[in-house]
Amino acid sequence: MAAGYTMTIDGKSVKGSKSTGVINPATGKIFAEVPDCSKAELDQAMNAAQKAFPSWSKDINARRKVLQDCAAALQQPPEGLARTLTLEQGKPLDKAGQEIMGTSMWCAYTAMLDLPAEVLQDTPQGKIEIKRKPLGVVAAITPWNYPLMLGMWKIAPALLAGNTIVLKPSPYTPITTLMLGEILRDIVPPGVLNVISGGDELGAWMTTHPVPRKISFTGSVETGKRVAAAAAPDLKRVTLELGGNDAAIILADVDPAAVAQKIFWGAFENSGQICSAIKRVYVPEQMYNALLDNLGEIAKGVKVGDGLEAGTQLGPINNKMQFERVTELVEDAKKHGAKIVSGGSRVGKEGYFFAPTIVGNISDGVRLVDEEQFGPALPIIPYKDVDDAVRRANATHFGLSGSVWSNDSARGTEVASQLECGSAWVNQHLAIAPNLPFGGAKWSGIGVENGPWGLMGFTEIQVVNSVKLS
Ligand code: NAD
Repeated sequence: MAAGYTMTIDGKSVKGSKSTGVINPATGKIFAEVPDCSKAELDQAMNAAQKAFPSWSKDINARRKVLQDCAAALQQPPEGLARTLTLEQGKPLDKAGQEIMGTSMWCAYTAMLDLPAEVLQDTPQGKIEIKRKPLGVVAAITPWNYPLMLGMWKIAPALLAGNTIVLKPSPYTPITTLMLGEILRDIVPPGVLNVISGGDELGAWMTTHPVPRKISFTGSVETGKRVAAAAAPDLKRVTLELGGNDAAIILADVDPAAVAQKIFWGAFENSGQICSAIKRVYVPEQMYNALLDNLGEIAKGVKVGDGLEAGTQLGPINNKMQFERVTELVEDAKKHGAKIVSGGSRVGKEGYFFAPTIVGNISDGVRLVDEEQFGPALPIIPYKDVDDAVRRANATHFGLSGSVWSNDSARGTEVASQLECGSAWVNQHLAIAPNLPFGGAKWSGIGVENGPWGLMGFTEIQVVNSVKLS
């Protein structure tokens, strides 16, 4: 199978000297080939980005216009982009369409931001200004759950701030990011946005490459630590958006039937493959059985299937390794005496479908609770008092986000503020928006993305301090 999709290097279409297959998780079979970027091609991309930097970094209004045009182009995506996202990622077709629209919206929002110099002093004796300068070339690396959206979280702020970029998607979902490069190729000047595809090794080459001054990485904690170590010798700046093990704590004043749908979809959206999905639920003892029953009923009614089939609500797990990991964690929970209220095993014989799984009779100390499952299996854990629930929610290296559910939102806010995480939500989960900083505490990351705070992560401060000579 020849690679039908191309990399974007220096504004040109590059087929690459080698290719590699991409698997459709609904069938488990290769359905397309993409370029497997060589070291020489990576050098070309980095050199093109470096060459484009001086002129691109000059004029923020010109950059803003380019990003607005990018956002507009994504409002009219080529036929097949959403379908291809479903084919490579697994998510239902309507959700793929929503991801594309979100990608456009994120780009349009970021294009509106500004980086004005802050004037600290402006007197006859002198002037002090704080400026935000671009860093240079950004190496951007993304995971496989939201390839387009998470790619744009890096492209738009990196470019608006005046940097140029080399972007590498996950080897599991490279196609739509390559297509994004193809769509934007005639809008963005040559060398400003380069999109390359390849395996984990390519990511490692990027992080040790001498050209980039910043690495913007989204992925697992394990890889994030490798990226930080690789960046250290050259003191490259890093933003790391890593994994989570989000707790949802339900307070005793809540009607379990009233929150069950929200809790369910906060955990199972995108088949649980969201960094900040609910990954464990702490519920008052007296409400435990009712919540289990409610969640179990919802799970049994959900349509799991090929994302291209009408009515599918949850697609397959994206890849074999992740499918095996979720299976292993559920089997381990069973061995520890967990009660499988719904699901608990694969669906069908081909592809990586796993039934939405609600797990009771489980507690901290079991892998499904302690580790990030990143898939459709949710442990429900009873608690006696709220302080204990908060302590257990915080007893982890993760710190991405968390939520508290209560009819008394002041009380909910008070408890949520005790969570050790980057986003603390009350009566909602996954409340992520382009104007809000998003990032993790502890091992869930370094730095934030989105909003003016995310934009500043693609800059460094320069103090311009001038006084009169006499
Ligand atoms: P991963 O860490 O395996 O891979 C992420 C990316 O890193 C891929 O493009 C991969 O090819 C690349 N890579 C692998 N080894 C590398 C290395 N040594 N150097 C540089 N790059 C390397 O993660 P994944 O399995 O693709 O994604 C799932 C993880 O991502 C989960 O832990 C999830 O929570 C996390 N995630 C976090 C956020 C966030 O914003 N915090 C968002 C989405 C996903």
